[in-house]
Amino acid sequence: TSTTIEDVDVVVVGGGPGGSTVATLLAKSGHRVVQLEKETFPRYQIGESLLPSTIHGVCRLLGVDQKIKDAGFMHKRGGSFRWGKNPVPWNFLFAISPEFAGEGSYAYQVERMKFDNILLEHSAESGVDVRQNCRVNGTEQDENGRVVGVRYVDGDRVDRHLRAKYVVDASGNTTRLSKYAGGERIYSDFFQNVAIFGYFENGKRLPAPDSGNILCAAFDEGWMWYIPLSDTLTSVGAVISKEKADKLNAQEETLRHYIDRCGLVKDMLADATRVTEGTYGEIRLRKDYSYANTRFWGNGTVLVGDAACFIDPVFSTGVHLATYSGVLAARSINSVLSGSMTEERAFGEFEGRYRREYAVFYEFLSAFYDMEQSEDSYFWKARKVTNFDRTDLASFVSLVAGGYSGEDVLTDPDQIIEKFSASTRALTEATEKTGGMDTDSGQRMGHMFSAPVVRDVMEEMNAFQARGASGDGTIEPPLLDGGLVPSADGLAWAEPATVSV
Ligand code: FAD
Repeated sequence: TSTTIEDVDVVVVGGGPGGSTVATLLAKSGHRVVQLEKETFPRYQIGESLLPSTIHGVCRLLGVDQKIKDAGFMHKRGGSFRWGKNPVPWNFLFAISPEFAGEGSYAYQVERMKFDNILLEHSAESGVDVRQNCRVNGTEQDENGRVVGVRYVDGDRVDRHLRAKYVVDASGNTTRLSKYAGGERIYSDFFQNVAIFGYFENGKRLPAPDSGNILCAAFDEGWMWYIPLSDTLTSVGAVISKEKADKLNAQEETLRHYIDRCGLVKDMLADATRVTEGTYGEIRLRKDYSYANTRFWGNGTVLVGDAACFIDPVFSTGVHLATYSGVLAARSINSVLSGSMTEERAFGEFEGRYRREYAVFYEFLSAFYDMEQSEDSYFWKARKVTNFDRTDLASFVSLVAGGYSGEDVLTDPDQIIEKFSASTRALTEATEKTGGMDTDSGQRMGHMFSAPVVRDVMEEMNAFQARGASGDGTIEPPLLDGGLVPSADGLAWAEPATVSV
């Protein structure tokens, strides 16, 4: 049976990091927000390795940074990789900018059950009406096809209706709502993997100060992650070809099979035992195909996080993209609801920035996978983007880059490849500038990190951290040609001319 219709400003579907970010920022701006989550938290989620801009930028803007700090998550200084030609692992450190050499040069490895729960509780404390155990099963549309609300079933199995000015779809990779924005999901031809993962007690740790790093180790059939979640608990996963998926079972033997083939991880787990009880006792399988929707907003809906796009997990960008897009979406909704801007202007900025961030990671990923030398392994061959007909890549990249960025490097793959093989001088400059890698890895990896496009993204992440570190009111130039800047409080957009230095 259906009950009365409630009127609110915004409905956010999904209680993950993307949903909690956008909901919290909208409530802080005084809007009536209902956030609907189908599960009862804490609930399990994969995606445990975070980036600094989430911790120091977004979490501070949300006002949840102290709670995150108090939770005592594992400090992550960066990533350790066994990748490419060199058999010796190398480190990529987060000390990407001298300004953040101390305070901001780390992120956390988190148990998502705890992290997501802190963000969702904070959302409720910030004034959001959070309703768990509430599954959205459809939308309400007006005669023009604009989404004007959602239908959901609550914990007592009662059908409910909410009417809203905007519906944010933050319901993750299994979304059924993203189509209402008017686009479709396009999968990458190259980055289609399956991941199998589980948890171990008493795995070894890398020597200090890198003991909290994520370890990513390539082997013939794919690569493995090794994420220290506490002094004793480790998340371990193998990323392999989708072609294997049919034959895979979510069973211990399957995971063991890959561990045995990946020498470094096998060694780290030599004295470890697999967790076999509770939430971490399960072996899980997940597709991790990279994709992007052709529209990120439209018809009264806005897509945030995995509902909009997903990129291969090797750089731990999922939660960053979810929380970053949550901030961008909140700014755009706030700007339109306050009457200061048209939808096209405000959401053009949202989509332009979001696609730019996604496209750069995508390019970076292409070059990164190209480094691995296991030419005769199907997994690595299928991901060698540069060996393929460029037109496929070009169309995907221009799709994800959109027409907004004004950066032709994002839309011209030839130029991208050229920039990725930049000179040694550029490499030295970049390494000096970013300070991001230890000496050896700087030599080997610098040509990728020195690509102008990659620096831009790091700068955008830095700008985000700077805003978090300095509190409100940091003045930033527009990121996109003819684009907008964040308002002084960071919660909306402003025309550049209206924000004075
Ligand atoms: P989610 O976290 O998926 O949250 C969506 C929420 O919506 C869920 O709680 C769900 O229950 C709810 N929901 C769904 N449907 C409905 C409905 N109809 N009604 C109400 N609620 C609904 N990211 C990283 O940052 N670091 C990593 O190391 C990393 N590793 C990964 C490894 C693998 C193998 C994969 C597949 C992904 C990895 N990711 C990683 C990505 C990360 O998991 C996601 O990008 C991130 O969780 C996205 O957050 P979100 O808020 O968009 O969605």
